[in-house]
Amino acid sequence: MAELKKKVAFARGDGIGPEIMDATLRILEAAGAELDLHEVEIGEQVYLRGVQTGIEEKTWETLLGCEAFLKAPITTPQGGGFKSLNVTIRGAFGLYANVRPCISYAPFVDTLHPTMNVVVIRENEEDLYAGIEYRPTDKTRHALKVITEEGCDRIIRYAFNYAVAHGRKKVTCFTKDNILKLSDGLFHERFEEIAKEYPQVENEHWIIDIGAAKVSDRPDLFDVVVMPNLYGDIVSDITAQIAGSVGLAGSANIGSEHSMFEAIHGSAPRRAGQNLANPSGLLLGSVMMLDHLGLSDAAAAVQNGWLRTIEEGIHTYDIYKEGVSKQKVGTKEFADAIIGNLGKKPETLSPAQKQQPVPSNNAVTSSKATQKSSVGVDVFVEWKESLETLVSLAKEASDAFTLTLITSRGTRAWPTEIEAPHLSDNLRLRFRGKNNQATQSDILNLLNRLDAKNLDITETHTLYSFDGKEGFSLSEY
Ligand code: NAD
Repeated sequence: MAELKKKVAFARGDGIGPEIMDATLRILEAAGAELDLHEVEIGEQVYLRGVQTGIEEKTWETLLGCEAFLKAPITTPQGGGFKSLNVTIRGAFGLYANVRPCISYAPFVDTLHPTMNVVVIRENEEDLYAGIEYRPTDKTRHALKVITEEGCDRIIRYAFNYAVAHGRKKVTCFTKDNILKLSDGLFHERFEEIAKEYPQVENEHWIIDIGAAKVSDRPDLFDVVVMPNLYGDIVSDITAQIAGSVGLAGSANIGSEHSMFEAIHGSAPRRAGQNLANPSGLLLGSVMMLDHLGLSDAAAAVQNGWLRTIEEGIHTYDIYKEGVSKQKVGTKEFADAIIGNLGKKPETLSPAQKQQPVPSNNAVTSSKATQKSSVGVDVFVEWKESLETLVSLAKEASDAFTLTLITSRGTRAWPTEIEAPHLSDNLRLRFRGKNNQATQSDILNLLNRLDAKNLDITETHTLYSFDGKEGFSLSEY
């Protein structure tokens, strides 16, 4: 019998985790979800045993052998040295898509946005979450924003596939490509391109700042929203909060072969062990898991039982409101009420629809080959003396190159017609190859000559052009 069931790993986590996981598993069992469950231990106690990732070697084996992972929130111990468990799992399992439906349940749960129904789809593996950071000098830190064409295509195509499978009408993209012309520019460019494959779905692009403001004020204008990792992290918390409560939203992390489902909130340690916590976020995460595993009847049963309970005004403390709610209950009693409502449908709220699975998403657009050539190099140096001295040392070392630019924090410091800006301790020198050509050995020679001038080289970036189009930001104009 166990072979017919879907193999799922689960972790009770920390803080309120064990209580909300027990409630969720009781409801799933009562709904007849065909799951073969395997418990794993992750989180605080594992970290405190000295495992920096919060997950032990043997646990990976169980996770790899399961189709999905249902994870309660965990507590990351204070202090340095601990790696984020979520980031580790997302990276190890290639969970490229984070999906957070943020839905209002008015008039039963208080919200300023009673008609809100937005799904935030966040790229999950790239961007500043690559965690590539440097301290090139005493007073300067750099972080690398990594955006790949493959990463963009995967998440954007997933967002459109999701819209089609869920009968949604529009996909909106948020980026900051007016400033980040290359990295966010690629995300936007791929969005425009992939949107053409889905003529039945409306598409639009907003700059993230006004987009985030608009989604907080008029969420009814949005349907599915897709964006790079860090923006998605922030926007999805905002949308979950304004829908009613972070305690109500579940989230799915989807990869080509693995998947992980959770509540969006944390382990709320102050609420732990008091039978107070709202299990809805984890429960709705588990509904997404059942849909993903093709157990859509059980998914619909759980969601409808939950909607009916919310409608009946049986609420945990976090969403309880005098005049709206009928009965304030604890975690266990809330789960009992849902179990009692299995088989019933909501009377006012829209009942769960049987969901089409979102197609798996291995196909990646193959871009046409480009002609890549190196045209120069940016060299960062630690420098605290006069700019004139730096210019003359750099020019003396230039040889096969022309020094065209010096910037401080991206702002042009030389040549300028106005007074140079306040200089940081890490300056960027741009050297263009004569005739716009620079071989690797030309660059190495240049670095040797700069070193011979006792310049402290902290970072270098080769400047490339692709089919004659320059692949670096042009602070020269
Ligand atoms: P949190 O989400 O745990 O709690 C913030 C507040 O929201 C709580 O004090 C509580 O009032 C309320 N709340 C959250 N979930 C609730 C629920 N289900 N029912 C009722 N009320 C609820 O955020 P935090 O306090 O910033 O973080 C606590 C710990 O959780 C930290 O160690 C953090 O690292 C961790 N965390 C884990 C995850 C995860 O495992 N996915 C996510 C976020 C935070």
